[in-house]
Amino acid sequence: MRGVARAGVGGGGELRLPVVVAIDGPSASGKGTLARRLAAEFGCVYVDSGAMYRTLAWWTLQSGKRCQKPMRVEDEEEVVRLMRRWDARVRVIDGEAWIHVAGYFPREEIRSDRVERAVPVVAQITRVRVWMVALQRDCARHGPLVMEGRDIGTEVFPLATVKFFLEADAAVRQQRLTGRGNTGSVGEVRDAMDATRRKGALYAALDAIRIDNTHQTADETYEIMREHVSRRLGRMA
Ligand code: C5P
Repeated sequence: MRGVARAGVGGGGELRLPVVVAIDGPSASGKGTLARRLAAEFGCVYVDSGAMYRTLAWWTLQSGKRCQKPMRVEDEEEVVRLMRRWDARVRVIDGEAWIHVAGYFPREEIRSDRVERAVPVVAQITRVRVWMVALQRDCARHGPLVMEGRDIGTEVFPLATVKFFLEADAAVRQQRLTGRGNTGSVGEVRDAMDATRRKGALYAALDAIRIDNTHQTADETYEIMREHVSRRLGRMA
């Protein structure tokens, strides 16, 4: 697939936009599975932006820094200082982009309960978000993207080619999280924090295609998304 789309900017000028499929939604709304499938089908690089925040939360904990609410100003400063110094680089491996810290990707570690609790805390620091957004935009140089997260269609790529906002009832999402081994109501707490932070709060972009998949199988949701993406890319070809 071509990696750029053209948009008129008037006066004969042409703005070249990267091809991006943006998928946002709360935890366990199905973003990960669906984003991966779409990326594979349409020849895009898959980007899990949540993994980037998780990797920073992991690194913060590894470095012995305090990472729980309430964050004091000095705690936030510590995280920002750490982030400025860390040796983090995005690497694309088998069509998927992951942050590596000093050459290491903590694939298992970032799914632990500790990180799960710490991640919304670091993710609400405005300077962390500014840095992450820049890193996520930079992923477009690797080619067309399918990127999933909370603010992809609103902040990271407000001119994304196609935007989806996935939703499902809280009880169903909690069941899915429990099925993955998540304990307690970590998802609920995380979602509340994600929805209320000052910058990059979770909400649906006005032009996002909203899909409530409470009563759908993953295949059914996938077909709807695939259809939208093919139509949009077909129009651009
Ligand atoms: O997608 P995932 O559940 O792995 O995201 C983990 C956390 O990372 C979210 O709960 C949120 O706090 C943060 N996040 C974010 N912005 C994104 C993606 C994730 O703040 N674009």
